[in-house]
Amino acid sequence: MPLNLPDFETLKHYLEPVFYLTDPERRVFVGYLLVSLVLAIVILSRQSAPFLPTVKQIFNPRLWRHPSVLLDIKLISVNHLFWIFMLAPFFGSQIATAIATKRVLVDLFGRGDFLTWSTLHVSLLYTAVLFVADDFARFFTHLCYHKIPLLWRFHAVHHSATILTPLTLYRVHIVEVILNAMRSIFVAGVIGGIFIWLFTGKIAPLEILGVSIFSLMFNLAGANLRHSPIWLGYGKVEKWVLSPAQHQIHHSANPAHFDKNFGVMIALWDRIFGTWVASEQTQVNAFGLSENAEVKQTLRHHLTGL
Ligand SMILES: [Zn+2]
Ligand SMILES: [Zn+2]
Repeated sequence: MPLNLPDFETLKHYLEPVFYLTDPERRVFVGYLLVSLVLAIVILSRQSAPFLPTVKQIFNPRLWRHPSVLLDIKLISVNHLFWIFMLAPFFGSQIATAIATKRVLVDLFGRGDFLTWSTLHVSLLYTAVLFVADDFARFFTHLCYHKIPLLWRFHAVHHSATILTPLTLYRVHIVEVILNAMRSIFVAGVIGGIFIWLFTGKIAPLEILGVSIFSLMFNLAGANLRHSPIWLGYGKVEKWVLSPAQHQIHHSANPAHFDKNFGVMIALWDRIFGTWVASEQTQVNAFGLSENAEVKQTLRHHLTGL
């Protein structure tokens, strides 16, 4: 029986992580990477550190062959295969959650649809509420990953990276991939359900190029530098919006920095929970789980958590 070669769409499905580079919904979209590179060059040129050697260091093949970076790539591949073959069929869409939420609200409070706002106003409110709720859910699950020993075992995989590159974003244990997917579906579904119940007409987020305006702003503000050695602080703005440097503090191997800056964009949650640390007058000397102990950067060592 002749074997058919897979078509482009099928290949793209299997090799999806490679196509993150061309997807504006992904942080490692080539456009956002370029913006971060320009920011990195501006930051380096303003520092006393020798400029060219540092830029050369970013592109040094030895850095990209470091066991920590190679493990990032292995985990991206293994997680993707796990996801498409084993997990994706079990994850319904957020629409099912939204419908269930609306049904509960109708049962409790009767038929909604009592607000007739313009589509633009509904979209503005929906985008803002979804952004705040999603940001808080990310903060809170991240706090749980650190405070609950069983969850820390899996989240430690993200923290065992000793070299941070934009790819480290995807260096997560499969258990964290599953929990994060459940979180996103739950938040988007519940907020969607509430809005469908409240408002008549169409509910759609405000997007540019298919990307939420908040995600776009976040990525254009150098989000890729969060996982990099380039120190970009936001000064006084850090009280409201977390900077890439603040996430580097979160990855610091210095025990004084452990369990700090859990948030993604909104700094308020960390300030409320007493975990906020500014980047000014703070220095990170090394990334990883500990300043002394070396963690083996092998897939085998990380598969069951640390
Ligand atoms: Zn963490
Ligand atoms: Zn991180």
